[in-house]
Amino acid sequence: MSEPFQHRARKRFGQNFLHDAGVIHRILRSIAPKEGQHVLEIGPGQGALTEGLVDSGAKLDVIELDLDLIPQLKWRFGLKPNFSLHQGDALKFDFASLVGAEDDKLRVVGNLPYNISTPLIFHLLDHAPIIQDMHFMLQKEVVERLAAEPGNGDWGRLSIMVQYFCRVDYLFTVGPGAFNPPPKVESAIVRLVPYSELPYPAKDHRVLERIVREAFNQRRKTLRNTLRALMSVEDIEAAGVDPTLRPEQLNVADFVRLANRLSEISADTAQGPSA
Ligand code: SAM
Repeated sequence: MSEPFQHRARKRFGQNFLHDAGVIHRILRSIAPKEGQHVLEIGPGQGALTEGLVDSGAKLDVIELDLDLIPQLKWRFGLKPNFSLHQGDALKFDFASLVGAEDDKLRVVGNLPYNISTPLIFHLLDHAPIIQDMHFMLQKEVVERLAAEPGNGDWGRLSIMVQYFCRVDYLFTVGPGAFNPPPKVESAIVRLVPYSELPYPAKDHRVLERIVREAFNQRRKTLRNTLRALMSVEDIEAAGVDPTLRPEQLNVADFVRLANRLSEISADTAQGPSA
């Protein structure tokens, strides 16, 4: 079918469109959408993934920022009864507005624009209870950070905050040739599955965020130095953590114990740390 739409990829919207049919099928197989499920695609672009998603019979909502792509998406998918198009910025979108019944959880999918991938993941984590799972194409380096383990150079704030909420699976790597125009770096597909019950719940996850940010501000220093402004060596030890370690040597559970200790101290002194 010839298409009456010509679109020039826009850098400022992070537009690298997938054109490799093998890669597109592999991504769709990993997601395996089904009728009765509710899928949200972020940044459908010219519909490379959208077509398979809509054909699966799943209920599909898509959010696209670029006004110029809207007519094309409407033309291709607008008549499908299971398709709804939202023009706007996914970073500001109220995902809860899409979900009706309690068991109607979202399966989020996106070949994400690189410039918004980290803030978007944090925005989605705020809605973790209404999300079944997420499949993203991201810069390979970002996926390596998401899936990193303690002690590894990639282990940091992103790994810890995402692994606090989700199980992370590195699925596969995608080379630049799969896109038009090709990006300068390699990409990879990641699956994030929010835990229905957090394995290490923090009393206040904003305190966890604060302590992780503070600790990794100077990742080469020991905890007794990086956390000096927040807690004493005795408090670090009371949380069962060795203050002579560097932040990259701690796992999620260690950071949660530090955060919970900090919440206790703050409650004791009745002047909690501003998160
Ligand atoms: N899904 C398509 C594909 O795989 O070929 C397009 C992927 S392209 C890397 C990213 C898409 O996200 C573009 O269509 C772009 O216009 C859209 N986009 C960029 N910023 C966005 C935002 N803040 N909210 C929603 N969509 C956005």
